[in-house]
Amino acid sequence: MLTTAIFPGRYVQGEGALAVLGEELARLGARGFAVLDPFAADTLKPEIEAGLAGKVVLASERFGGECSDEEIARLAETAKGSGAEVIAGIGGGKALDTAKAVAHSLGKPVAIVPTIASTDAPTSALSVIYTPDGAFKRYLILPHNPALVLVDTGVIARAPVRFLVAGMGDALSTWFEAEDCRIKRGANMTGRLGPMTAYALARLCYDTLLQFGVLAKAACAQQVVTPALEHIVEANTLLSGLGFESGGLAAAHAIHNGLTVLHETHAYWHGEKVAIGTLALLMLADRPPALIEEVFGFCESVGLPTTLAAIGLGGADDAALMRVAERACAEGETIWNEPHLVNPRRVVAALRAVDAEGARRAKALKLAA
Ligand SMILES: [Zn+2]
Repeated sequence: MLTTAIFPGRYVQGEGALAVLGEELARLGARGFAVLDPFAADTLKPEIEAGLAGKVVLASERFGGECSDEEIARLAETAKGSGAEVIAGIGGGKALDTAKAVAHSLGKPVAIVPTIASTDAPTSALSVIYTPDGAFKRYLILPHNPALVLVDTGVIARAPVRFLVAGMGDALSTWFEAEDCRIKRGANMTGRLGPMTAYALARLCYDTLLQFGVLAKAACAQQVVTPALEHIVEANTLLSGLGFESGGLAAAHAIHNGLTVLHETHAYWHGEKVAIGTLALLMLADRPPALIEEVFGFCESVGLPTTLAAIGLGGADDAALMRVAERACAEGETIWNEPHLVNPRRVVAALRAVDAEGARRAKALKLAA
């Protein structure tokens, strides 16, 4: 029986980490090309320039906004013309995914510099490709993880707090999904079993959220970096990234994917919908009531959604939830990594149970206040 784990080549994190960007990039090549999202292009250029410290010549181009085949081809052409030996992505999820795809198409290493901690995508060997007008097109599975992931927590702390909270929602699913994969002997993102290392990291991810989530949110709201914020950025980015990729996904992400079929959920972020998917996993998988209570309490403490209304589905009828459930139970979906009886009817039941419990608790909290 083979187990397989995959990792980024190097992970650098801390306040002011951009100051060593040049030193870190120089390990990968003397000439680089950076895809900058509009936030990075408008506000981070002086810090990036200072961090290069003359060690690397870095050309750059502003990201057009969509991780599409067309945008990847455009940026790859420009990068090629610049003679780049390494590609960098600096910004949010789509700019980073685009940089990964550009690097792949040119056969060059990629350095990822996230400016928000809203998902666990930065460390992964995966890009999500969309059409130019923003519809999901396909997953691009890459042969390598990023050679470098560099996270400046001073930059993360300046981003709106909702990004950090959404990242905690994504990270919240990690241990439960990895654990179900472990029990079922379900495949991770490599198609093989995960090693015990991945399951242990997934558990550390969950413990870190419970311990430091509230404190990290408070720090981010004040735009300051504290040890708690550092721990949560590491959980959202590195632990969750390693946990999902090498541990595996199960019901939470499948239910997230189901929720995206209802356009009412489109204003809500990946991690916010994953939080609802996680609560539904707990119901579906018959987790102990004390654990379910703990996870609801965590969501309430950091402001993650616990009811369908909180992700735009206050008026969703059974037919709408059945569409969600059928998508979640599509062939090949990760929900089949659940070591429990799964079918669309049970997924609808789990979503209804989450909604009722979330609403009951919200009412009780209000009465107590
Ligand atoms: Zn996710």
